[in-house]
Amino acid sequence: MAEIIDGKKLGERIKEKIREQIPLLEKQYGRRPSLYVIIVGDDEGSMRYVNNKVNTANSLGMDARLITLKSNIYEKELINIIHVLNEDPLVDGIMVQLPLPSHINEDHVVDAIAKDKDVDGFNSLNVGSLWQGTHGIAPCTPKGVIQLIKTTGVPISGKFAVIVGRSNIVGKPVAKLLLDENATVAIAHTGTENLKAITSLADILVVAAGQEKLITADMVKPGAVVIDVGITRNAEGKVVGDVDFDAVKGIAGFITPVPGGVGPLTIAMLMKNTMECFLNHAEAHSDVSKLWATIIKARIGGHKQ
Ligand code: NDP
Repeated sequence: MAEIIDGKKLGERIKEKIREQIPLLEKQYGRRPSLYVIIVGDDEGSMRYVNNKVNTANSLGMDARLITLKSNIYEKELINIIHVLNEDPLVDGIMVQLPLPSHINEDHVVDAIAKDKDVDGFNSLNVGSLWQGTHGIAPCTPKGVIQLIKTTGVPISGKFAVIVGRSNIVGKPVAKLLLDENATVAIAHTGTENLKAITSLADILVVAAGQEKLITADMVKPGAVVIDVGITRNAEGKVVGDVDFDAVKGIAGFITPVPGGVGPLTIAMLMKNTMECFLNHAEAHSDVSKLWATIIKARIGGHKQ
């Protein structure tokens, strides 16, 4: 029977470390890490997500604000607001909740965020850095996936990892981060012939397709680490993942539940990215600040990306 990976507990541990560091940072730098979350329109689901992000950041002692904009805002106006935040030295992190209304080009907006404030890690410069292996900000969900795998104690290096899904925000960056950990990586998608033949070889299986019960017990290698990124609402209105959890937990070595697996890590990684942006900004000040920022980064488990 698989061990259930408790994402909620791991997320809380990561946030607790951040909560402990913030008063020390405020003492040292005279200010707290700041995060600006922008939402366009008033979609109920998106509003719940952004409120959760802002409330979490504030509960950790950060200075987080929500900017709510009308759904008919022009792309140029939105980008102008981002430019103002880019120029403000008191702003560490900026994120724009996606999706945006169809008259706004999401790529233009995401790319307008300064590279060093792009806490989602979605803009082209950070994506380039991720793939080049140079200094940048890695996206939150993929970073969380790696943390969840590491918490099992199963070494990633040398393992065969299969990712189902090739989106820019989940599948592809998860593949690159696993490659950086020395896994041998395959990415499956709707064009993959015989998905089962590939997934059943995986020591580490990450599923991010958005299809309920796509992965059944016969598709999983005994003892595998199974990370279910999927979140969908099924016909009964229940939030479900992509893995047939009840059946697969009898085969896998480790498995994440939905909810309570990847979701809490995504938000914890957003907090961590905001801290890292703050520390990078603080580090730019002086050699003493640089030393201090390095110490705090080590305490919260700073990441190269
Ligand atoms: P996308 O729809 O952008 O991508 C889905 C990917 O899955 C595509 O690459 C698609 O292939 C592939 N896919 C879909 N169906 C199949 C199938 N039957 N067989 C093989 N591959 C398939 O979704 P996202 O990557 O944005 O998100 C994936 C899931 O993760 C969603 O449920 C989403 O809600 C969830 N999510 C959860 C987060 C969290 O915090 N827990 C954060 C972000 C996303 P193709 O490219 O060929 O179309």
